[in-house]
Amino acid sequence: MRKIVIAGNWKMFKTRSESEDFLRGFLPHLEETPSEREVVLCPPFTDLSVMSKYLHGSLIQLGAQNVHWEENGAYTGEIAAPMLTEIGVRYVIVGHSERRQYFGETDATVNLRLKAAQKHGLIPILCVGETKQQRDAGETEKLITTQLEKDLVDVDQNNLVIAYEPIWAIGTGDTCESKEANRVIGLIRSQLTNPNVSIQYGGSVKPNNIDEIMAQPEIDGALVGGASLEADSFARIVNYQ
Ligand code: PEP
Repeated sequence: MRKIVIAGNWKMFKTRSESEDFLRGFLPHLEETPSEREVVLCPPFTDLSVMSKYLHGSLIQLGAQNVHWEENGAYTGEIAAPMLTEIGVRYVIVGHSERRQYFGETDATVNLRLKAAQKHGLIPILCVGETKQQRDAGETEKLITTQLEKDLVDVDQNNLVIAYEPIWAIGTGDTCESKEANRVIGLIRSQLTNPNVSIQYGGSVKPNNIDEIMAQPEIDGALVGGASLEADSFARIVNYQ
């Protein structure tokens, strides 16, 4: 059975008090959310601890936006998996295109982070997707196949979520057409050994397109950036029809 997973990626937005304000507005909406939907919030590291206290006993899961592959060590600025699990974090985004583009993340380091996350019981959300240039050059399928081959070496597919995030659709308002997202996600699924991996779509998901996206048979959820920052808008997304 494929699980529906809707995750909000807050990127580098929201202070601790802003995250508390968000929760006050958002939590009441979850009374309408079907219990089989997994709702995940991925705030900045500095918000995780306080949010963990608010969310204890709620249906929301906490996610981090990255994790290092070592358990500890002289890695200034990095965060290790045991630091996340001890405060109740359950998911972690790995290989987001912003990490690949701005912080030198490679398929090799993505693979190390995926394995470290799983070793410590975190569920990684692996992001893959093509640039506009790669899409226009007809390289989408090849690029995604290569990313999956390299990123998933020795990764347990029983404990994994994948997000198809076309880079040209992230933060641009230019959503990938839902049938096309469905097609690419089908292609991703065909390359997995476990057909039950949940595969999300991400890229300008909004309250006004979530119903159509979630109506697609291959799409098992969404990774949502901008529209997850505002309580009413993310509530409409998790309560899609
Ligand atoms: C993202 O950050 O993963 C994302 C998809 O952002 P947005 O929804 O703003 O396009």
